[in-house]
Amino acid sequence: MSNSDPQHKRILVTGASRGIGRAVAIELASQGFSMVVHYGQNEELAQQCCDEIISQGGQATSLGFDIASRSQAREAITTDIQAQGAYYAMVLNAGITDDAPLPAMTDEQWDNVLATNLGGFFNVVRPAVMPMIQRRAPGRIVVMSSVAGLIGNRGQSNYAATKAGLIGAAKSLALELAKRKITVNCVAPGLIETDMVGETPAEFINNAIPLKRLGQPEEVAKLVAFLCSAGAAYITRQVIGVDGGLAG
Ligand code: NAD
Repeated sequence: MSNSDPQHKRILVTGASRGIGRAVAIELASQGFSMVVHYGQNEELAQQCCDEIISQGGQATSLGFDIASRSQAREAITTDIQAQGAYYAMVLNAGITDDAPLPAMTDEQWDNVLATNLGGFFNVVRPAVMPMIQRRAPGRIVVMSSVAGLIGNRGQSNYAATKAGLIGAAKSLALELAKRKITVNCVAPGLIETDMVGETPAEFINNAIPLKRLGQPEEVAKLVAFLCSAGAAYITRQVIGVDGGLAG
């Protein structure tokens, strides 16, 4: 097994059945990586993503579990690694929003967003990282943060807290894994056209986003793919925006 050949390198992308995660999985597969397309509930959509990758000559298998469930994540990831080998890279992409102004936010809204976005990071990384270290080869971890984690967003105190928290977690992990040549970086997208983002008023787009448009999932995928590449070996502990200039 050659470490310089992406064909033999497996990458787990969480939440890869749609949106940014799907674009990331397709982009990485086009560069020759072997994809583990994770999904929460929609196995059919995940299979469609795998089928697209395979029809383009790539390699992909799907893996389903709820990232908010520590036991489900541990079992699914451990079984997958035992059967197919450790991951070269992980893209921690899956996440949710459940917005409300803080005075009106319910306990459930706060708890669920924290358990999914921040808990999900721990639940996925924890069982996968030691096998990654034991590969004794360079590796990559990319964490999907958000401009909301950098500058906050009205109605998103729960979501912004998780996206800021992920930056702290990723930077700490970057320090822990640097001597293993495993890099850990965050990507902070702005407004990207996916199911997560509802109608965005044209006025906001024109006034707040210097490039005056929403971003596309493929534009985030290009950055993630670069961070996963051999060429990004000296980039770690960073937060890199892909936001049309929104966060400044
Ligand atoms: P999306 O809603 O289309 O995709 C989110 C994915 O996460 C889905 O595939 C979903 O099934 C999965 N997921 C959610 N909860 C899960 C759970 N408990 N278990 C397993 N899977 C689960 O949204 P997207 O826009 O593609 O978002 C992807 C990531 O990018 C998220 O972390 C999001 O916070 C981040 N982000 C998005 C934007 C944007 O404008 N779209 C901006 C900044 C950051």
